[in-house]
This record gives sequence, structure tokens and C-alpha cells, in this order.
Amino acid sequence: CGIVGIIGKENATDVLVQGLEKLEYRGYDSAGIFVTDKDRQEHLVKSLGRIADLQNKLNPEIQGTIGIGHTRWATHGKPSERNAHPHTSSNQRFILVHNGVIENFEEIKQEFLQNKQLEGETDTEIVVYLIEYFSNIGMTTKEAFKKSLSVIKGSYAFALIDKHNPEMIYVAKNKSPLLIGLGDNFNVICSDAMAMLTETNHFVEIADGEMVIVKADKIEIEDQKGNLVYRESYEAQLDL
Ligand code: GLU
Repeated sequence: CGIVGIIGKENATDVLVQGLEKLEYRGYDSAGIFVTDKDRQEHLVKSLGRIADLQNKLNPEIQGTIGIGHTRWATHGKPSERNAHPHTSSNQRFILVHNGVIENFEEIKQEFLQNKQLEGETDTEIVVYLIEYFSNIGMTTKEAFKKSLSVIKGSYAFALIDKHNPEMIYVAKNKSPLLIGLGDNFNVICSDAMAMLTETNHFVEIADGEMVIVKADKIEIEDQKGNLVYRESYEAQLDL
């Protein structure tokens, strides 16, 4: 029920875990994070239960410079470690977190993923496999992500990492909350500004249907037609 992400800082794991703690009030049944860095040291950890349980399973030495984290409120598939996010494509290349509900996931499975053996039971896993499918037929990751968004029906906030290019996080939303937070040579994402107020108080809203590429030093917002959008940030009031 919550999403956090960060790119451009040396302590991604710590920032993500602290961010997830701030989102605990929203309710959740499981949690997970993925972090990596330029040396491709990576860490994917998921846990049923509390953030404290997740923390116990983490190797704090693997911090990473890019990462995404998630608290799950199960809608499709029981609460379990396997169904917890982040979800990984079958070739292990794409890592995705999702809040919301994909309404046409059965149809997507029928049309595009008939020969795929899925790991878990979530609607989310269908999406990361769909991105992989479009990537495998020759699309760039950005194209594959946008194409997937055009096929999906439902509510979502997504954050996607392509391990082949850990210099950016791909983000999109529709009817589920998601914000970009602007830092000094780093940027964050979060479903609620509260999760990242320790890092920044400058946030940029994303509109439904937009796709955003978040890099350490800039963000690029695109509308559905592919036009670049410029949007001012706003200052969140610190009310801690
Ligand atoms: N529908 C997804 C699932 O069941 C995401 C749920 C959420 O928003 O946490 O895994």
C-alpha cells in the first residue's frame, strides 16, 4: 500500500527502510526492497509481516545507489513472501513495485503470456512479465513500459528498475498516489510526501497517465502523447 524509491544517494537501503516505516500507518501485510549500484551489487529482500522483520533479513552493508521499496496490501494472491513486491521478470532483468489493481490481468495473460510460468499469484507479476515480453520483441525499456501502460486497465502507481541500466527509475501512475521528491543530485519517489520529508521538502506531482523517468540529476515527465511536460515543484509544509 506504499511505494518509495531513491536514486543518486549512497545509502539507498537506509532511506528506503526509513521511508517504508513512515508509510506503516497506511496498513500492509508484507514489504520488500530492491537496491543496486554501478558495480551491480544487488539485494532483493522481501518479508511477510513488519518492516522490522524485513530489516532483520537485510544485509546493511549492501546499500546501493538506486532502489525501490514497497508495502503490500494484498488484493490478488494471499499475503506471502513470494507474493510480496518487488516482482522480477523471468529473465531477472526488470524489477517492479505496484500499488493498485490491474483489472484486465487475466486477458493480458491470455494474450501475451500464455507460455509463461508465473511465480506467484499477483496481478502485478503479469505487468513485469508484460514489460519483459515487449522488451524481448525489440522495444527499448521506455517503449516496453509505455506499451504496457497502454495495455493495462486499472489503478496503479508503478516504479520500475531495469538492471541493465541502473541510472534511472521508470514511474507512472493512474488513480493511485505517487510523487517525485527533488534532492541535490538525488531524487526520490513516494506515495506520500511524509515518507521522504527527511530527504527533501520539494515535490513534483504526477498526473494520471503520465510517465516519468527519474534520474539522479533530473526528471523527465511525458504525457500520453509523448510530449515533455514541465511542472514546478511545490514545498511540502514540515509538520512533524
Ligand atoms: N494488487 C497488488 C497485489 O495484490 C498490489 C497491492 C497493493 O497496492 O499493495 O499485490
